[in-house]
Amino acid sequence: MENPVDNIIRNMKLPATPKRKELIQAAYEFAKKAHTGQKRRSGEDYITHTVETAVILAKLGMGSSTISAGLLHDVPEDTATTLEDVEKKFGEEIAFLVDGVTKIGRIKLRGEQEELQLENMRKMFIAMASDIRVIIIKLADRLHNMRTLEFNPPDKQIRIARETMEVFVPIANRLGIGEIKGSLEDLAFKYLDPENFEYVKNLEEEQYTQRKRHLDTAVVELKKELLIEGIKTIDIFGRAKHLYRLFQKLKRHDMDINKIYDLVGIRIIVPDISACYEALGIVHRKYRPLVGRIKDYISLPKPNGYQSIHTTVFGHEGKILEVQIRTKQMDDEAEFGIAAHWIYNEQQKRSLRNFIFGKKIQVPQKELLWVKQLREWQNDLGTDNAEFMEGLKIEFFKNHIFAFTPMGNIIELPEDATPIDFAYKVHSEIGNRAVGVKIDGKMATIDCKIKNGQVIEILTSREHKKPSQDWLRFVRTSLAKSQIKKALRS
Ligand code: MN
Repeated sequence: MENPVDNIIRNMKLPATPKRKELIQAAYEFAKKAHTGQKRRSGEDYITHTVETAVILAKLGMGSSTISAGLLHDVPEDTATTLEDVEKKFGEEIAFLVDGVTKIGRIKLRGEQEELQLENMRKMFIAMASDIRVIIIKLADRLHNMRTLEFNPPDKQIRIARETMEVFVPIANRLGIGEIKGSLEDLAFKYLDPENFEYVKNLEEEQYTQRKRHLDTAVVELKKELLIEGIKTIDIFGRAKHLYRLFQKLKRHDMDINKIYDLVGIRIIVPDISACYEALGIVHRKYRPLVGRIKDYISLPKPNGYQSIHTTVFGHEGKILEVQIRTKQMDDEAEFGIAAHWIYNEQQKRSLRNFIFGKKIQVPQKELLWVKQLREWQNDLGTDNAEFMEGLKIEFFKNHIFAFTPMGNIIELPEDATPIDFAYKVHSEIGNRAVGVKIDGKMATIDCKIKNGQVIEILTSREHKKPSQDWLRFVRTSLAKSQIKKALRS
């Protein structure tokens, strides 16, 4: 059997230098040892999950730190090995990534306040996105969990599929990672609407077989034309649509498959932008275009940065066919979004960090793109722009802190809030009975300042029912103040 590490390395977009290989190998061995004896619900060894997560990250073009963090992402939460052990062995950067993934993993959708939780969850993602790599690892993790969802009980399947559709898909879309977005959507679609999934799947297969012959002929004909004109075609191929996207399209077209022109199509990959327009001319000379169906997303990119030329033509034997023309770089970016820009050299990494931390320095154009995307995403959340501009510093929500209960519920607090504020926000009785606090599993003082992402466990006493007058000195929220005063009066 192939060494799993070789599989990861073979899928890397970055050159697999000895240093990178060594790091990935070490992370694999560390994770394998930590997960020894653990199984997935599928019956496979647990390590297969983290290896698959790492493979997805490698395919996305991520660097060896991110891939290693992918291998280690379930270690602190699910094994006896701690985050400190990870940090000792792999250093601060990888430990930070693993910790970020662990914290996001604790967030749960809750029954009653589901909408609120969902909203908080999205905010949380941004708050955690002090390093966008954390979110990319989380997306890879989710993708593999969705691929193996069949081994879970039905109620869990539905819950996970909903969460995927409502939270992870919009995030993948925002980050422009079309490939992951499409896969997550299709996998969730299968569990959320099995009947329509089957219907669309069969329809697509049937249509694809019918249209395939014409497509293959068109590919041969166009290849020839492009060659004659001296356009270097890097790649040309037919493609099938993602099923959920096809379903959405069908709904817009009275469920009539004959009105869907891009079920199969041809994608022409050329070396540069001018070749895109030349190729467009050649395609139109060979096959007559449909009026009003030419879309130039190169001059006018989509909001998530997508670039390509689309045209619909009467192809071989007059069969309608969509043709997409783009450069290799545009193609990579359509599939991998911001991850495609994530080719890390130390220089880029440093300048990017500095920018996120709010320092004015020169940043390459590419990196600005995802900041722009984050901003648009932020606008979707309905927060006002001024606040967000301020939030471009590390604290995306400067005036807000999101802390967790041990059960994974999110408690939103103002900056500098203390465990007592947290306690009253959970329940007045928890506040009144508070005697101590554990933060991230360690004892802490009740007047300390809570930091974003911490897990707060309030220790309560059964007898002790009254708050201390002293608490009024340090609490931050008016809720806590009024509750303390009320309890002291009674
Ligand atoms: Mn996982």
